[in-house]
Amino acid sequence: MKSHTKYLTFNIPARMDFVHITPKVQEAVAESGVQEGLCLVNAMHITASVFINDNERGLHEDYKRWLEELAPHEPISRYQHNRTGEDNGDAHHKRQIMGREVVVAITEGRLDLGTWEAIFYGEFDGRRSKRVLVKIIGE
Ligand code: ZN
Repeated sequence: MKSHTKYLTFNIPARMDFVHITPKVQEAVAESGVQEGLCLVNAMHITASVFINDNERGLHEDYKRWLEELAPHEPISRYQHNRTGEDNGDAHHKRQIMGREVVVAITEGRLDLGTWEAIFYGEFDGRRSKRVLVKIIGE
């Protein structure tokens, strides 16, 4: 069995934003040489997500509004977590909703995604360097 590990680094200038990462993940699959297998992609931070959905700008703006309604950044005092001196209580909640990781099948050397499926990095407490793990196993 082959395995390949890659770390992607993101430093998002906004507090919250989404980045399309399918091409970077496909690149890692190509590097791995795996033809049949599985690809795990996970955020390595508890205030960021990796998820699959439509690559459509309007939807991403809808997500931002929806997430801000569910877990508004302010007032900071809304979150017990922020009593630690942090201000990212909302970001932990947003990450919980949007998820930690995705697993995608690899078929004939390609990510076997549905027609409209695309992989995204979701940032909820940006303006610092964060990592995403890509782990590929197979033959
Ligand atoms: Zn925190």
